Amino acid sequence: MTDLTKLTLAAARKGLADKAFSATELTGAYLSAIDAANPKLNAYVAITREKALEDAAVSDKRLANGGAGPLEGIPLGIKDLFGTQGVHTQAASHILDGFKPEYESTVTANLWRDGAVMLGKLNMDEFAMGSSNETSYYGPVVNPWRSNGSNAQLVPGGSSGGSAAAVSAWLCAAATATDTGGSIRQPAAFTGTVGIKPTYGRCSRWGVVAFASSLDQAGPIARTVEDAAIMLTSMSGFDAKDSTSVDLAVPDFAAAVERGVKGLTIGIPREYRMDGMPDEIEALWKQGIDWMVAEGATIKDISLPHTKYALPAYYIVAPAEASSNLARYDGVKYGLRVTGKDITDMYELTRAKGFGAEVRRRLMIGTYVLSAGYYDAYYVRAQKVRTLIKRDFELAFADGVDAILTPATPSAAFGVGDEDMSADPVKMYLNDIFTVTVNMAGLPGIAVPAGKDAAGLPLGLQLIGKPFDEETLFAAGRVIERSAAIDFSPAKWW
Ligand code: GLN
Repeated sequence: MTDLTKLTLAAARKGLADKAFSATELTGAYLSAIDAANPKLNAYVAITREKALEDAAVSDKRLANGGAGPLEGIPLGIKDLFGTQGVHTQAASHILDGFKPEYESTVTANLWRDGAVMLGKLNMDEFAMGSSNETSYYGPVVNPWRSNGSNAQLVPGGSSGGSAAAVSAWLCAAATATDTGGSIRQPAAFTGTVGIKPTYGRCSRWGVVAFASSLDQAGPIARTVEDAAIMLTSMSGFDAKDSTSVDLAVPDFAAAVERGVKGLTIGIPREYRMDGMPDEIEALWKQGIDWMVAEGATIKDISLPHTKYALPAYYIVAPAEASSNLARYDGVKYGLRVTGKDITDMYELTRAKGFGAEVRRRLMIGTYVLSAGYYDAYYVRAQKVRTLIKRDFELAFADGVDAILTPATPSAAFGVGDEDMSADPVKMYLNDIFTVTVNMAGLPGIAVPAGKDAAGLPLGLQLIGKPFDEETLFAAGRVIERSAAIDFSPAKWW
């Protein structure tokens, strides 16, 4: 029998429907693959073997007797940020030690409603703060990709590094992820996978551990554009329990995938041509433009003049919201408690021990920018910048642009423990240069693998869309996927 883990989600779904194999067999194949790979890749922080096999048995009954959902029997990995009832949910933090929520996040509940099977919880940067998956309490995730002729470990990107590595290394058919400043798109680009951050409000944030609530969005990482579309259709939808969830019908995103880009206008923002951008990123971008033209799109040079303020403004807004959201972890209600001489001492000891260095840095920055006397100078100003960034995009779309094409990241995956990055947090933050604008404006963005660098590592392109027009992103993303025609399978070494 073919290796079931190598099937795309769409192909696995067809195989299940055709009774070529059972959900139990498919799930078993993934569990074996995880057992073999996880000691080396560290993508999963919890494997829910019994639950997976029980879910798969239920799916097999439904597949046999009717009533199968759109994801019936499809084994998925779930980012550790999603609350899963009775199952390890720690946002890869020490402070949530032992936390097993009483509730299920709306997004994961939607996936189970549609028949999906949970394989386990995926590693990530602690509280989703990071771009390399090195801030996890559980240690770094290793990218399944290696540079040609090298055995050096590379990062899978972050914060959804476990999701991206697991999808790329065939340890789940697809995964959930979240994106506050690029955490779906950057790891997708680093691992040759497809990741989409939908419009803010498309997926419910209910039951997802909050980082920066005005920026956080859930979305899928998958192996193909079609698989990402199938996942997003199930994950999306209005939820009265999230006041920022938008009450709009969810299209069948998969139906938009083969629409093409004929007649569309694709904007190319001049401000994304950064100083010192590697030639291969520039060349990839040019290649993407040529593919769009070859498929009948019109290219338009556009200006998004406030782009240069996006990263500094993001690194004020996101820590500010985080400092407020993470105030709840005090040793009283959740996880870790370090006892002290009185309650204040207990709070302080618990938070000092429970949060890692990057989270502590963000909390200090956030508390500072929100404090009396600095609030207007930093937080209010960053919010004004945010409005200007949003307006830049609105003007481009009002001027006839249907989607915007940019690189996804300024480089390919870098090394685990890279000294430049760990010595200087700002260098790490620069990874988000092409992605944070999209969160600041609340827009949808997709990263699609489009080429490889000189060392053979995957590189991605990003498409940014109008609010709630993910369909155009799937259609244009598919054009990139089809035109690149590259097999983005890492050479197996684990
Ligand atoms: N890398 C960014 C940060 O560290 C984005 C993280 C995310 O999207 N969750 O904040």
